[in-house]
Amino acid sequence: MKRNGADGLFTKPSRMADFKNRDKNREKGRDMEKPIDNYWQIRLNALKEALEQNNFEVFVATDTEEAKKIVLERILPATGARSLSWGGSMTYLSTGLYEALKAKPGLEILDTYDKSLSSEQNYELRRQSLLVDLFIAGTNAVTEEGHLVNLDMMGNRACAINFGPKNVVLLIGRNKIVADLDDAMYRVKNYAGPANAMRLDKKTPCVKTSYCEECKSPDRICNVWTITEKSYPKGRIKIVLVNKDLGL
Ligand code: SF4
Repeated sequence: MKRNGADGLFTKPSRMADFKNRDKNREKGRDMEKPIDNYWQIRLNALKEALEQNNFEVFVATDTEEAKKIVLERILPATGARSLSWGGSMTYLSTGLYEALKAKPGLEILDTYDKSLSSEQNYELRRQSLLVDLFIAGTNAVTEEGHLVNLDMMGNRACAINFGPKNVVLLIGRNKIVADLDDAMYRVKNYAGPANAMRLDKKTPCVKTSYCEECKSPDRICNVWTITEKSYPKGRIKIVLVNKDLGL
């Protein structure tokens, strides 16, 4: 080792080298992200085509900020929606759209996330939200063929995606893409289900094992399956694919 000065400490030269190495590693890290983002960009573009074949209207966003802009500046004005509601979606919350839409004047908001509501009031609001102009949610899985797979506790989100609201927006992170229906169901039952049960602090066996145990628990969150092969009418369901891992 090279000494630096009379005090015998190995300060500047070795530290300078550390800083240089650290910067180089940071650049390497950024470079490493590019192939991953590029990989997913290609996958998302292919999925966009598959979804469009199934009559969905599709947008691709590089991140949550762009997804938010697409909804606020393109989808919302194009639909002319005056009333809005949403189903449970961590992806939706991660975009900041929830706060932005609530702050927007002139919209009737049926806020099913409002914690001040009693469970009876919330249930009634979920029923009413089936008739809004624009309903926002995520999906539990999307296949490479462009089919949506969802599993609900109450069924309000899955129902609204398929019938009721005039328009639907689904925000979907790249981590929701699976090969086919079998993989979609496996993902929903053995990842999204247990992880959501943990998030919601449910007393279900999957919280302990991380796998679906096909429970008979009163807390069971897996009650209503839907598979959406196509948007009907064409373009009713608008999908924003986001090149990030989002939600469960
Ligand atoms: S059915 Fe029960 S055990 Fe299986 S994922 Fe759903 S809540 Fe968990």
